[in-house]
Amino acid sequence: MIQRALISVSDKTGVAELARELAALGVEILSTGGTAKLLAGLGIPVVEVADHTGFPEMLDGRVKTLHPKIHGGILARRDLPEHMAALDAHGIGRIDLLVVNLYPFVEATSKADCTFENAIENIDIGGPTMLRSAAKNHRDVAVVVDPADYAVVVAELKAAGETSFATRFRLAKKVFAHTAQYDSAITNYLTAIEAEAPEAGVVPAREQYPQVFNQAFEKVQTLRYGENPHQTAAFYRDLAPAAGALANYVQLQGKELSYNNIADADAAWECVKTFPANEPACVIIKHANPCGVAVGATALEAYSKAFKTDSTSAFGGIIAFNVPLDGAAAEAVSKQFVEVLIAPAFTPEARAIFAAKTNVRVLEIALPAGFGTSVAYDLKRVGGGILVQSPDAKNVAAEELKVVTKVQPTPAQMADLMFAWKVAKFVKSNAIVFCGGGMTLGVGAGQMSRIDSARIASIKAENAGLTLKGSAVASDAFFPFRDGLDVVCDAGATCVIHPGGSMRDQEVIDAANERGIAMVLTGTRHFRH
Ligand code: 5GP
Repeated sequence: MIQRALISVSDKTGVAELARELAALGVEILSTGGTAKLLAGLGIPVVEVADHTGFPEMLDGRVKTLHPKIHGGILARRDLPEHMAALDAHGIGRIDLLVVNLYPFVEATSKADCTFENAIENIDIGGPTMLRSAAKNHRDVAVVVDPADYAVVVAELKAAGETSFATRFRLAKKVFAHTAQYDSAITNYLTAIEAEAPEAGVVPAREQYPQVFNQAFEKVQTLRYGENPHQTAAFYRDLAPAAGALANYVQLQGKELSYNNIADADAAWECVKTFPANEPACVIIKHANPCGVAVGATALEAYSKAFKTDSTSAFGGIIAFNVPLDGAAAEAVSKQFVEVLIAPAFTPEARAIFAAKTNVRVLEIALPAGFGTSVAYDLKRVGGGILVQSPDAKNVAAEELKVVTKVQPTPAQMADLMFAWKVAKFVKSNAIVFCGGGMTLGVGAGQMSRIDSARIASIKAENAGLTLKGSAVASDAFFPFRDGLDVVCDAGATCVIHPGGSMRDQEVIDAANERGIAMVLTGTRHFRH
């Protein structure tokens, strides 16, 4: 039974309602200055911490709750008679519920005019100390750092007079994640201004930090192994993954996901959701590269076209759709060996078809409202460090396109070029992607020279029995020489899209004019390594 709660919050969201509910349940409420004033003003019975401890708040609030009567009341183990006797001997009352959120350090230091002194004053000391005490003693004490959790605590108290261990454990984990993030935000701030002269009181010019450094992750699962069997691995997700991100998946059936499954599923899903939901699209991924991408009037048509690009490589592929998978498409997909199948929804017919294939991993992920990348920051580990970049979220706008040849692309060619350009962004560099009629015809990926990617793409098209005559081709970066362009023209391409920007652009444009093809420059490069 909860007798006493301590509430000390900077963000006062929802605190009045919470205090009212607690008071109605007969819980005594202790509060620090500002919080106590707010609650008392609303007519909610509250005892000031200073009155409770017999010690005033001092040093401009730097010392408010740092007192044995507070920390003893939180930390004492209720199951140990010695602890209870010590509380009695010193006249310390138990505190069974702690509600604290911290001085808004990140918000304060995000303001352009934040002085060093102001930043320092926004470092909360007593708050994290209480949070950590209560989280440590979660066996006996409930601790709430997020106003979103007020409701569940109230509901449990109303139903049972106490909170469940499961809830207290969850809330304690949340606290340690929160205080860790809070401290890393302070560390990042101080690290960046080290070279400045903060003692002079100047406003330090700071670079902006990617949120990732202050971000906490939660473990989803330990994986059987990493990229290879001798590597250990696990999957972690953001505490609050972006809408439509892979980490929101619900696995409807199939074997446990592996490290490579998750990596490839992400590549497939990120690519397929760049197509609008009114344009059924299918992406087949192998080893992080698209081996077939297509759009069609239906999911079935999109799949059939994507499969045709490279039916050999599609074996054991990861297949993603941007539309609900229906029975007809599922029937077609079920004829090939598929590792992972992803879609925003599955019809009962589609579910029934795969129910018999128990190994196939079927993932359902809701599409985000807009389309685009779900990765907040892109991270890459290097020896002793980490590379951080914003994601490659750029989608080239129509007005950025520049036709540089005498021949202008027809509307149909333009559509093929835009499709090819969209796909090239998801192909490892050097990427050359032949397309036509809303499907990939040949994909050259991950070669160390662009000309080899071009050769491989055309060989693959030939192997698949697809003609490149009249095709559109995209190159993820500029053609450094005309030789790559000659290869794609020899293969049959009649229009090409690439960023441009090479020293030899003119040589390449002259070659395009000589070959009588249309060339469009995007001004944007999409390296993917
Ligand atoms: P209030 O608005 O109630 O006066 O202050 C609430 C804030 O004070 C909370 O964010 C809480 O984390 C913080 N706080 C509570 N005790 C202490 C303390 O002893 N020292 C400092 N610096 N902050 C405290």
